[in-house]
This record gives sequence, structure tokens and C-alpha cells, in this order.
Amino acid sequence: MTPDPLSLAVTDRGEHALARLVAMRAEDPPTTGGRVLSYVYDSGLAELDELAMRAARLAHGVNGLDPTVFSSVARIHREIVDRVRAILGGEGSGVDGQGIHGSVTSGGTESCILACLAARAVSRSETGSSEPVSGGTIVAPVTVHAAFRKAAHLLGLRFVGVEVDPGTGRVSAGELLASVDEDTVLVVCSAPAYPNGVIDPVAEVAAGLEAHHDPRIGLHVDACLGGLVLPFWPEPVTAEPWDLRVDRVTSISADLHKYGFAPKGTSVLLTRGRERHRAAWFATVDWPGYPVVNPTLAGSKPLEPAAAAWAVLEALGEDGQRELVSRTARATERLGDGLAGIEGLRVSDRDPGPLLAVVADESVSDRRRVHPHLWADACARRGIAVQAQPAYRQERGTLSSSSHLTVTPVTERLVEEILLVAREAADEVRGQAAPAPPAGFREVLEALDSGALSPADLLALPEDDVHSLVAGVLEGDGDTASAMAPLLAAIERLPADIGARLVRAYLAAVMEC
Ligand SMILES: *Cc1c(COP(=O)(O)O)cnc(C)c1O
Repeated sequence: MTPDPLSLAVTDRGEHALARLVAMRAEDPPTTGGRVLSYVYDSGLAELDELAMRAARLAHGVNGLDPTVFSSVARIHREIVDRVRAILGGEGSGVDGQGIHGSVTSGGTESCILACLAARAVSRSETGSSEPVSGGTIVAPVTVHAAFRKAAHLLGLRFVGVEVDPGTGRVSAGELLASVDEDTVLVVCSAPAYPNGVIDPVAEVAAGLEAHHDPRIGLHVDACLGGLVLPFWPEPVTAEPWDLRVDRVTSISADLHKYGFAPKGTSVLLTRGRERHRAAWFATVDWPGYPVVNPTLAGSKPLEPAAAAWAVLEALGEDGQRELVSRTARATERLGDGLAGIEGLRVSDRDPGPLLAVVADESVSDRRRVHPHLWADACARRGIAVQAQPAYRQERGTLSSSSHLTVTPVTERLVEEILLVAREAADEVRGQAAPAPPAGFREVLEALDSGALSPADLLALPEDDVHSLVAGVLEGDGDTASAMAPLLAAIERLPADIGARLVRAYLAAVMEC
């Protein structure tokens, strides 16, 4: 029998493609090993990564769209939800149809969007109207993840950001509650907030909502980052509970692709009560095709990520998870202490947990101060990637420019190396003036400052002009990836809506060239 010529061609071209992929991946920063302190969550156990890949392979080909056809989808989702519900204090509260139900989603952003979608639907349920009603607010501290601004944008809701104390980065529960009104569909607290590692006062907010507000207003806890790490932290992270043990909490999100140590593509949204849970689903029989029921945003979807996350949960068990979190906690403490000892830098106020935000120490003179973005670039040049975060302007005082570090179990092996780099990097940039925006933006920024150009003019600029401006800067800069400080400086100088245009054009330019 002659072999299928197409098989031969596919095999041959496939090998070439894989070789190219190897070469492309060689240019990426390493996703394991602990030298990248954001985006990746490394357990430090190669066995766990191997297991996840084997599980994904076994799930290959399944369409997660239809658990009635592929029963493994239902089983895997159920078992993931059961485990995460137990971890987040959601067991044994099943009275009056107020049990905890769950969906497995593609990531934190999707979990957060679905929580907002459900809240919008529940808030409108009284009228029984399916009309898209405009209005409705999401009330959250300004430090809440951008996913909620995105959700508001997508769902026709208004995001009401409640300012935090510029010194501590903390919101007052009273002020958060003061922004809740008859328009509010959802209040959000973070456990913890991504930018600074602060855990919002969930129990206090819950008590205020319970006492004074419409029970249909949702209270979501965004534990996308903290959900699988805070429950296992060696010491209690807050005096009061922050998870489903707080009865007034109506939903909570937790990402398995963060401290669940699973590959990207899996998060869980847990919701109190069937009504709210199913309010996020979409179903229709009003078309000539198959009956559609989508508990999440996607239609067809892979089982691979969920199967991998499930296998990792099974393999780790509670004791494994606790051990990995202990390693993370020890690493965070050593790293935090070490960074705090570097002259010119300060670790910002935070709660126990795996996040550190580093800011300039304002208590020392300019000549001894270290700008966190220059420091981040200097760390990057030495092979350690931390994440620069722009200053955030709010009326009661700006939140300083910072650099973010996400600590994972593997970090424990690298603490001394990271601190060595951190000290050298600080020595290199100590006393340097705050970074300037890229030279290519200078004219525009000067025109803005002088009033020759208004923010409205900039917003009206055709996309092609914005593209040329940004692409020119990218070309002129050469190695932009290792020098983020100028871009961040530009963002800090611009109004937020223009900054958003800038970063959109920046990403597009990176992807196009
Ligand atoms: C990561 C994160 C999200 C968004 O999750 P993605 O998985 O990146 O979509 C939301 N909230 C917090 C606190 C996070 O850390």
C-alpha cells in the first residue's frame, strides 16, 4: 500500500513548523525557574508540569461545549468545583437553595465578567424584563483588577472606582458602601488586589450591605489570585473571613492557572444560589440549529486546560498545596525583608500573601532614592523580570509608581540570587531622575502641556496617525522589552483614555512587526 502523500507532506512540514516553534520559544523569557516574577506561577515541580501536559493530551479533541455528549466534561468540572468550593469555605451552606454552585471558565477575566453578568441579570429580575437596560453600576476600590472595568465596558454598566488611601492603598468599607445606591448591581472586593497585595475589608462590606441595602445587590470577592493560596497561608491572613464563609458574599472567583499551578486557561467562579448561578448562563432554542446552553462565554471550548488543572489538583491534594504555599510564604518573607533593606526602595503596605509592590522610598533624599521603573529595567538587564506598574492618579493623592513581584514556590530557591540582582540594580540607578517618556512622544506631550493640543484632539486622531507615532517610537528604541520605564512615564503623563489608546497602538505595533 502506498502511503498517503498528504500524510508524508504533513509530517515533513509539521517537523519544520515545530523546529521553528522551538526557535521562537527560545526567545521568550523562561516560564519556569523563577526568574520571571509575574505572569507565570511555577510550583518548582517539573513532575506537575509533566502531569498537566499528559492530562491535556488525554483530553485532546473533546469539545467542552457539550457535557451531555462528552460526559468527562461534566465529571471534571464537577470535581474541580467541589474541590475549590471546599477550599473557599462553601461547604454546608446549602439551605434554602442558597448552596454554592460553580462554573469552570477560561480564566480570571471570564470569571469576573460572568459575575458581573449574573449581577446585572439578578438586579433586573424583579421586572422580569429581558430588555437590555442601560445603567447599573459596579462599585469597587480603584485597586480592583481591570477585568471589572472591562466587564462594565462590555455589559453596558458603569464602573464606580472608590479611591483608596494613597499611603496604604486601602479602601475604607464605609466609603465603598457610601457609593452603593439603587443603581448598583455589584460590589467587588479583592483578596488580594493585584497591584499592591491588599485584602479588602470583605466582612465589613458584607455587614454594611446586609444591614442597609437591597439583597439583590451582589458582593463578589475577586480571589482570582488569592483563592488557592490565602487559604493555605501558614498564618491567618485577616482577622475576619473573606471567602464564602461570609454569608453575604454572593460570588467568588479563583484562578487555577495561578496558584492552582495549572497551565493557562482555567479559573472557577463560585456563586451562591441557583438563581444567580444560572443567571450568567446563556440558553436559546430560537434558531434552527442545536439547542444552545453556554454556562460561560465561549461556545466550543477545549477540555485540555480543565483536565490539566483537575489532574494537578488531584495530584497535589491539600497537603501538597499547603507545602507549596509554605514555600511561597517563606520566599515572600525573605524577599520582602531583603527588598525593604535596600536603600531608596520601600515595600508598600500589604497583607500576608504572595505579592510584593516596591516603591521609591520618599523618606530619603532624591540622591538616595531608587525609581522602581528604572530599577525594574536594571533588574531585567540582569535576567530578573519584575513588572512595572504606572502611578495612578486619584483625587486624594496619587498611588506611586511601583514594581510588582509575584512570588511562587520556586522563588524560594532563588531568593539570594534575586536579592543580589535587586541590590546591584538599585546601586546602578540610585539617585537617577525619574524616567522620561520616549523622545518620539516629546512633541505630543509638550503640545499637550502647552495646550496647543487638547486631550480631545488626541482622542480624535485617526488610528493610522497614532499607529505611525507609536511604531516610530518602537523602531527608534530597538530593545523596548528591556526598557519599559519610558513607556510607563508616557502613560503616567497622559490622561487615562489617551494612555489606553497609546498602549493599544503599542501592542498592535508589537504584533504587526
Ligand atoms: C489575574 C487576576 C485577574 C484576571 O485574571 P486573568 O486570568 O488574567 O484573566 C483578576 N483579578 C485578579 C486579582 C487577578 O490577579
